[in-house]
Amino acid sequence: MKLNELTIKEARELLDNKKITAVDLVKDCLAAIKKKNKALNACLLVDEKKALEAAMAADNRMAQGEIGPLLGIPYLLKDNILVEGWRTTAASKMLKNYIASYDATVVARLNAAGAILLGKTNLDEFAHGASTETSFYGSTKNPWNTKYAPGGSSGGSAAAVIADLCLFAIGTDTGGSIRHPAAFCGVVGLKPTYGIASRYGLIAMTSSTDVPGPLAKTTADALEVFDVMAGHDVKDLTTSPIEKPNFLEDFKHFSLAGKRIGIVKEFMSDAVDEKIKEKIVEAIKVCEKLGATVTEIDLKHALYGVSVYYVITPSEVSSNLARYDGIRYGYSDDKVDNLAEQYLSSRSNGFGREVKRRIMLGTYALSAGYYDAYYLKAQKVRTLIIEDFKKAFASVDFLLGPTTPSTAFKLGEQINDPLKMYLEDIFLTPASLAGLPAVSVPAGLADGLPIGLQMISKPLNEGELLAAAGIISEALVGGRLRLK
Ligand code: GLN
Repeated sequence: MKLNELTIKEARELLDNKKITAVDLVKDCLAAIKKKNKALNACLLVDEKKALEAAMAADNRMAQGEIGPLLGIPYLLKDNILVEGWRTTAASKMLKNYIASYDATVVARLNAAGAILLGKTNLDEFAHGASTETSFYGSTKNPWNTKYAPGGSSGGSAAAVIADLCLFAIGTDTGGSIRHPAAFCGVVGLKPTYGIASRYGLIAMTSSTDVPGPLAKTTADALEVFDVMAGHDVKDLTTSPIEKPNFLEDFKHFSLAGKRIGIVKEFMSDAVDEKIKEKIVEAIKVCEKLGATVTEIDLKHALYGVSVYYVITPSEVSSNLARYDGIRYGYSDDKVDNLAEQYLSSRSNGFGREVKRRIMLGTYALSAGYYDAYYLKAQKVRTLIIEDFKKAFASVDFLLGPTTPSTAFKLGEQINDPLKMYLEDIFLTPASLAGLPAVSVPAGLADGLPIGLQMISKPLNEGELLAAAGIISEALVGGRLRLK
């Protein structure tokens, strides 16, 4: 087995027993990237020199007796997260030559823990999408079948993890962007509770739902990464100042016995593929066998999630992306006569179609005459969705259902149908709007493509959530799917 194929846990044991070095690990990852990335287009940037230097530094720290869960572990980072001195594009022409001037908090924390950054991964432009096809740098391909989309927007991160280009990757989830590609590529993707992981240094999309999180090979690996990322950050005032829960202990002591699982009625509609439903039924049997009780739960307003999300997201996007004016940041058209033309020309040429669509939709939804009818109404329905969840979690511990209505679609198949693309997020947006932790784990294959199962829980319960989803995934696929 090549070292890049290891889980974090397996690599940790070998590193701690001095069987391998961080340099060995990094070299195998870099070799895998060299071999596979041309076909996959998962990585937009790889810095071999810096990665090897960081690996040597990690080996030195280990030689001096330092220990830590991520010390010497190589990873890839979604390219909408800043790394000082590195190009950060958000997969947009707008930021083609943008060099970040500081590290995002997640990067700083992973660095301090001794994780080794290999490079940056592809995404939908500014994270707007569910297929990675809106990237200015070309779409990522699904490693299970390169004719298919890897999902999105963190498609590069998910593809990189299943193709073993790294041991884990970081993504961002605003309305499903970690869970969706995790399902399409067959890896674990955790969207943390809003406010437990710092957004400082993330390129803002929808500030009220954006959150960074791990994509990993197993739930145990995702837990270790998440635990390092989590916690209050003075640089992000929306992070919670409360003491960080002991996620590791919650995970370790978890048992499904006596737990109450809710199956969301609205997520089991006819829109869901039969093969995916079958996996949910299998998962239910696993839960019952292990002593959990399973009941049906009504989330009456959950299916309005997509409608609400696609008013709130464009609204926040139109505001957050106003900063790209061709002057302060990024792409600039200077063959212009006046300031207005400079804005118009830089934004028209620097942004792609989907980004512009959202800016226009959002500007409209926030405009004086329409604010009440769209934005305010969406916020009110958002409150109803939050209340549905509160009610549900009074009677169950976890909600369980499909991550997506179907498995991966073909590249090109729905890129010209925005509405269809938005409906990819039908089961994902509710947890985002409510700020709840949610995870997608591999549950099996259908026609050679992965099936994802989503579990949602109460806030700050990531330890138990990952444990529960991990037990189910273990029973269904042995905890990890592997490419042939
Ligand atoms: N697919 C969703 C969208 O296009 C989710 C994106 C995300 O979570 N970044 O908005």
